[in-house]
Amino acid sequence: MGKNAFITGITGQDGAYLAQFLLNKGYKVYGGYRRTSSPNFWRLEELGVFKDVELLEVDILDTGNLIRTFDRYKPEEVYNLAAQSFVAVSFEKPVLTGEITAIGVTRMLEAVRIVNPGIKFYQASSSEMFGKVQEVPQTEKTPFYPRSPYAAAKLYGHWITVNYRESFNIFGCSGILFNHESPLRGIEFVTRKISDAVARIHYGKQEFFEIGSMDAKRDWGFAKEFVEAQWMMLQQPAPEDYVVATGEAHSVREFIEHSFEYIGKKIVWKGKGPEEIGSDSKTGKPLVKVNPKFFRPAEVELLLGDFTKARTRLGWEPRVKFKELVEIMIKRDLDRLK
Ligand code: NDP
Ligand code: GDP
Repeated sequence: MGKNAFITGITGQDGAYLAQFLLNKGYKVYGGYRRTSSPNFWRLEELGVFKDVELLEVDILDTGNLIRTFDRYKPEEVYNLAAQSFVAVSFEKPVLTGEITAIGVTRMLEAVRIVNPGIKFYQASSSEMFGKVQEVPQTEKTPFYPRSPYAAAKLYGHWITVNYRESFNIFGCSGILFNHESPLRGIEFVTRKISDAVARIHYGKQEFFEIGSMDAKRDWGFAKEFVEAQWMMLQQPAPEDYVVATGEAHSVREFIEHSFEYIGKKIVWKGKGPEEIGSDSKTGKPLVKVNPKFFRPAEVELLLGDFTKARTRLGWEPRVKFKELVEIMIKRDLDRLK
């Protein structure tokens, strides 16, 4: 008999990939989703695992709901992927973000502590916790400096996991994951926003798109590979925290340029700051315009991870790097919109 795993955030990008990965390993996978009037299981459907996951209505805002779920389904491993995960929204909904992304973790840990402190617990921490970075590249030892309500909430989730490990001997691991993307990424995140818009422009369904800060740099990896590290952490003899990254940083501008390159267009940039426009080198038509509405009250300029610990201790390494990732995403959006 395989082990039982419970995943919160099953309807999200990582939830779908992790479910697929664990099913392939022989796990019985329970997936928690919050009640909505129109459920969104498209990611599980796209990966062909919708029928293989047992879906449970579970909200991480409700502790009793979590306790009853753990008691009834007896998971041996719990992956807490649920969050209000979008930085931009966190500035407008800081309290809700705190309830879900910060206190939600304590609710999960309390349920583990009450029902079975032997449950292995994974917390989805984030490179956003490094924010205004104190050193480059960032490791497990780099001091944190969150720059958004989302990052501050994740930092709380990170430390409460460490605290339950030290106070109650709970096998809790925090994966400090750098940005990871895929064709299943939410459309509001910059990579998928670009791949979708470029595909639309290719088919003549759209003329241009609007963007915020193009000089921000991220260490972007492939989500399908990053969820493997989440599982690996829980298979170690002792619970610890790990940075998961690719060790390469690229700008939003590079992401845009490479996406257009894939459909045979070269971008020429003119103007500065909010006036900047990217045009088609052949036709002169504007394809990208800056709109300050996408600027953030406080920006994270550069994230770059050092994944040495994950490589040496978990044997984990990224295989897909920047250019291939851009191509995987744009190709899928071109197929979708055909
Ligand atoms: P998504 O935004 O795609 O998924 C978030 C999930 O959380 C969704 O399934 C969402 O449900 C669910 N959720 C939100 N609120 C609740 C709630 N109250 N109760 C139960 N479920 C809830 O994120 P990703 O899959 O990309 O990321 C997974 C985790 O990893 C998140 O915690 C994210 O913050 C973190 N992370 C992600 C990184 C990345 O680059 N992708 C980097 C570092 C950390 P619904 O579909 O109903 O909205
Ligand atoms: P984040 O790193 O979790 O905030 O992931 P995002 O994909 O949301 O943003 C990555 C970077 O892209 C940030 O520095 C954003 O400010 C920048 N960015 C520039 N324009 C946009 C945009 O239109 N949408 C989003 N989501 N981000 C943008």
